[in-house]
Amino acid sequence: MTNAVSKFIAAMPKAELHMHLEGSLEPATLMELAARNGVRLPYADAAELQRAYSFDDLKSFLDLYYLGLTVLQTSDDFYRMTYAYLERSARDNVRHAEVFLAPQAHLRRGLAMSLFIDPVLAAFADARDAFGITGGLIPVIQRQFDESDALAMVAGLAPWRDRILGLGLGGPEVGNPPSKFRQVFAKARNDYGWRITAHAGEEGGPDYVREAVEILAVDRIDHGVRCSEDPALMALIAERGLPLTVCPLSNVMLRVFPDMPAHNIRALYDAGLQVTINSDDPPYFGGYVNENYAAIQAAHGFSDDALRHMARNSFTAAFLSEDVRGQYVSELEAFAG
Ligand SMILES: [Zn+2]
Repeated sequence: MTNAVSKFIAAMPKAELHMHLEGSLEPATLMELAARNGVRLPYADAAELQRAYSFDDLKSFLDLYYLGLTVLQTSDDFYRMTYAYLERSARDNVRHAEVFLAPQAHLRRGLAMSLFIDPVLAAFADARDAFGITGGLIPVIQRQFDESDALAMVAGLAPWRDRILGLGLGGPEVGNPPSKFRQVFAKARNDYGWRITAHAGEEGGPDYVREAVEILAVDRIDHGVRCSEDPALMALIAERGLPLTVCPLSNVMLRVFPDMPAHNIRALYDAGLQVTINSDDPPYFGGYVNENYAAIQAAHGFSDDALRHMARNSFTAAFLSEDVRGQYVSELEAFAG
């Protein structure tokens, strides 16, 4: 299923805007942390764990994902996980990365907010010094819990409010529509000045995407691919220039589409939507961001110029200052392949 990454894709400057830190743990690292931290997992080794990366739907993935993240116990674990992703991404010519973390999953295990937020932010600072990669953190609400739980999490993040980019919405989509979190997103935007993103239209229908747009007033839509089932909604998203953070390999692994040729990325792109390409949870879904670009090029015949356009979208959609955005866009325009 993995397509070779061309030299053009590998060298192209790009941003990644949809990647869950807990989903970036490579199987070998995950097993190593389990052993060191005394966490029992039902897998003998990394190879056996990797064989479990076969999913029927979002829930079957999330069950394994929530089990896997229990190996994270110390500040050093969170630091190493974040730094490893940024180091790897810098090699893939990711210039800027905005990543998700699910604080509720860690708070519920008894970890203190500072135990995981501080090392993640420290890893960003160190990776910027070492590799020049910029980026930041977007905590995601786990939508299976009540809004009161999300409000408590956001209140707990107050000490870091100026060092956090925004608030996202993740977890099992069906039955947990964006409208369930109206108050907490309003608070994040109005009290903290945070940007807003939400997973919508992955397993949930276009009505979930519409709620994210009209009720939460999102700055970006995570996935959003099922918006194509509602032409009026698609037109609205195009008109507002709302970016979609599409994760092609994830969508196929979680059976949103049966295979890559059946993915609607071509239709979204041709409709003029601001499509960006991302990896979601790279080791779980068989590829980092460059492998995602390679997969859609192989299946849908996108030209290198079209991929460059999507990379440009990734900088346009990023929560960047205008001067830094301008530098990245200039670098991309000068990039000859
Ligand atoms: Zn995601």
